[in-house]
Amino acid sequence: MKILMNAGPWLRVPPGGYGGIENVVATLVPALRRLGVEVVLASVRSSTIEADELVCVFDEGQFRDLQKPYNQVMGLAHAHQLGVVRELRSRDDIDLVHDHLEVVGPAVLSAYGGPPVLHTLHWDLRKHPAFYGNWPDSIAVNGVSDAQLARAPAELREAALGSVHLATPLADAPPLAPRGERFVVMGRICRLKGQHVAARVCQKLGLPLVLAGPVSGLDTEVELDTVVHDADHPLHGHPDVRYYLDEVRPYLDGDLVTWIGAVSGCARDLLYASARAALFPLQWDEPGGTAVVEAMALGVPPVGLRRGCLPELVDHGRTGFLADSEEELAEWVLRVDEIDPEECRREARARFSPSVMAGRYVELYEATVARRRRQRGAA
Ligand code: UDP
Repeated sequence: MKILMNAGPWLRVPPGGYGGIENVVATLVPALRRLGVEVVLASVRSSTIEADELVCVFDEGQFRDLQKPYNQVMGLAHAHQLGVVRELRSRDDIDLVHDHLEVVGPAVLSAYGGPPVLHTLHWDLRKHPAFYGNWPDSIAVNGVSDAQLARAPAELREAALGSVHLATPLADAPPLAPRGERFVVMGRICRLKGQHVAARVCQKLGLPLVLAGPVSGLDTEVELDTVVHDADHPLHGHPDVRYYLDEVRPYLDGDLVTWIGAVSGCARDLLYASARAALFPLQWDEPGGTAVVEAMALGVPPVGLRRGCLPELVDHGRTGFLADSEEELAEWVLRVDEIDPEECRREARARFSPSVMAGRYVELYEATVARRRRQRGAA
């Protein structure tokens, strides 16, 4: 089977730091190729992952521009997707497109009508009700958790082939670092991820906390300062920047609670692996939770609020703790050493390894091709 994997134009693959979808694609592509699937990757030219071919419109990731107003950036995703369609038009050896580009991907591919398409939903499905409530029949679709699909409009939920949990290559790695004292929140700094709650809880309990992740695509304090001091900068009033300044920064004391900016590569893995626990004080129904499965793969127990995909990923009391309120969260944080890191690692190897995810996607690719044949037969 030869597929075109559309990662979109936002970040390179692997992303070299923050990057939800690009990390998923970076995990999936090598595992699919080990199963004999040929992969043509549609991404940006700076992508370094090994694939059979690379298709791109942009040289570099366009993520920074994604934060600008819609009417200034709407052309980016469309330009990339037109490049994908041009490529598909120019050849007839692609058996299936596995698409990850939000809305623009399925909209353009359904209008084009080329090879069968499986589109993976990585988002909160209450977004885009006008589109998700009117799902194009020709596009097969899957979610990244059952909890995510439960929030979808009925039309989309009925069209879905099921959900495939996210995975991480860390599930196959040996233990990377001994457990340390610090708690970590790994993720974009934004209200949805609840860094302010983690900071409040840890400060109250006197426990060290490291916040790692970009603020609206800004990776360091210096980059952030530039934006804060430039009233004309497009990110100046961005909600994530305001959230960081108003609700997170007041807790940063340079000692107990710190923000270290975005981390990547080995530095990220070692920081995460040496955490005492990973905190997920989610303020939304997290659809997929890459950072949750990464923590478990590293033997770091996740402790979070019982929302979104968390109850599907974490078995309360065995592989982490789930709380229903901030007060309860603080109680479980204190008991985190009761969780056996080996149990977390075992669970991640069994459920969240690249080969498990790739095997599941191959099943969905076959189901997508069969579905197309049925649709053609019926027509
Ligand atoms: N991440 C990273 N460096 C950071 C913060 C996050 O490499 O400083 C990675 C994190 O390890 C995970 C991804 O970015 O692989 C975030 O994925 P998740 O699904 O948790 O969040 P979302 O896609 O909602 O932003």
